Amino acid sequence: MAEKKRVFSGIQPSGRLHIGNYLGAICNWLPMQDDHFCIYGIVDYHAMTVHFNPEEMEQCIFNAAIDYLAAGIDPERSILMVQSTVSEHTELAWVLNTITPIGWLSRVPTFKEKRQANPDYVHMGLFDYPVLMAADIVLYKAEVVPVGDDQVPHLELTREIVRKFNSMFGPTFPEPKAKLGDVPRVLGLDGVNKMSKSLDNCLYLDETREELWKKLSTAVTDTKRKRRTDPGDPLVCNIYTMHKGFSPDKDVEYCARECRAAGIGCIDCKKILLENMIQALGPLQERQKDLRSKPAVVYDILKNGHDRAKKIAIETMREVYERIGISKYHKH
Ligand code: ADP
Repeated sequence: MAEKKRVFSGIQPSGRLHIGNYLGAICNWLPMQDDHFCIYGIVDYHAMTVHFNPEEMEQCIFNAAIDYLAAGIDPERSILMVQSTVSEHTELAWVLNTITPIGWLSRVPTFKEKRQANPDYVHMGLFDYPVLMAADIVLYKAEVVPVGDDQVPHLELTREIVRKFNSMFGPTFPEPKAKLGDVPRVLGLDGVNKMSKSLDNCLYLDETREELWKKLSTAVTDTKRKRRTDPGDPLVCNIYTMHKGFSPDKDVEYCARECRAAGIGCIDCKKILLENMIQALGPLQERQKDLRSKPAVVYDILKNGHDRAKKIAIETMREVYERIGISKYHKH
């Protein structure tokens, strides 16, 4: 039987997971577990590229593990691991650094955005983030990377780095492809920017019905629709995007049709979304609660994930050292 294709993806443990992470990344990860070999990382080194509090980091990693597991990552089939526990991620990043031209990195849109947003906090880690991300992926020879659409430029860069490595040292890594899910971009409650922790425009996975409704009820929709009697355009409405992630087809079709015909107002449409969100998030929140009361189980899963990831990582680095001509000194 042919070996299953490998998948790598990760999320930074920089706070609670939001609906953008859930629909853009995690919902895209879950079905891949059926026919791929998946490695999902809690990428703590990446979380260090923005302001972070060392006193909260361990708890953030634990919470991220709980979120992944509660959302349906199955540790029997997939590897769930903490990036910094497999030191080969940074070893390989160094090797890739030595072949990545600076010009490639300065073109990356997220670097430009983050530099603009935080001019006092521009450092090598922020600049080099996409090389570490390339290392995360190719360390496991992953061919598929399920992500939201903001990550596509990073994947393009990974592919360029792979081509350069393979042409300089011989064919070693497959060129990984980004895989977008059904909802590759969720906007924030402002209806304009990407939903993102740093913009404070998020709905979170662990929010109660009351908290969700408080935010949803004031969320921006189609700004051209001024009155209840005006027809709306679902294609420019973020609430409609979220319907596609949470609602059954009949509700998605109903909301699109009735919005266009001004048959329902935005509040009606949001109420339907809320109910469907609760249907999905209610059981997930129950599992979060259950896992929170069993920290030893969570730590065991991460330890097991580390052991399995480490084996693959050592294999890859052996090959890399061979390719770059220093393997003799690694054979002890
Ligand atoms: P954040 O942007 O909130 O800091 P991360 O950078 O850790 O989150 O992103 C982790 C994953 O979640 C990536 O695959 C990213 O593409 C996806 N993602 C993040 N925000 C969104 C969004 N608003 N819509 C769709 N996917 C998203």
